[in-house]
Amino acid sequence: MTKDQKRALCVVQKLKDLYPDAVCALHYEGDPWRLLVMARLSAQCTDARVNIVSEELFDRYPTPSAMADADLEELENILKPCGLYHAKARNVKEASRIVAVRYNGSIPDNMDELLALPGVGRKIANLLLGDVFHKPAIVTDTHCIRICGRLGFYPESLKVPYQVEKILVALIPPEDSSDFCHRLVMFGRDTCTALSPKCPGCPLSDCCEHYHKL
Ligand code: SF4
Repeated sequence: MTKDQKRALCVVQKLKDLYPDAVCALHYEGDPWRLLVMARLSAQCTDARVNIVSEELFDRYPTPSAMADADLEELENILKPCGLYHAKARNVKEASRIVAVRYNGSIPDNMDELLALPGVGRKIANLLLGDVFHKPAIVTDTHCIRICGRLGFYPESLKVPYQVEKILVALIPPEDSSDFCHRLVMFGRDTCTALSPKCPGCPLSDCCEHYHKL
């Protein structure tokens, strides 16, 4: 086991202790199609806002078929608060059509078919693989990229999600990977924030290279 793998195990365990219940910040009520839609809406938008907008969205379009048949302008109006609403509306409408027609309302359980859905990149695909199918999955969102850089698993300047994913796949035990990423989101909001990380007293400080450079 490498030094970084040992350090990664230390971080995984400390985050488990801090956040025993690793939960997705998007309130998708156990419906994989809703998670697909909400994950697309969350690009450059907060999870809190997506949760609010989604209430009206799923009241109006409760199934993939209903969203596939949505009037595009009406859908855009609902999605406006999330930003990028033209592209998001087109993507979720078309993805919902494919889910309804090709997958009978389910979502595919593998990376290649998920990536073929409109608006789905590796981040969303990994979120779905981990949360819905309980497969190993590293979700390289902004918290994950920032915190793992600070911890020293790669240079803090590295911001390329796929490179980060490949590095973390080699460090984080597969069975922990999905929950690890949910815990990073919680830790990134509570402690290792973007602008003012609370380093003094941080429970991960003894595993953190950023801390040791302070
Ligand atoms: S010590 Fe600071 S930089 Fe390191 S994980 Fe904790 S809050 Fe983040």
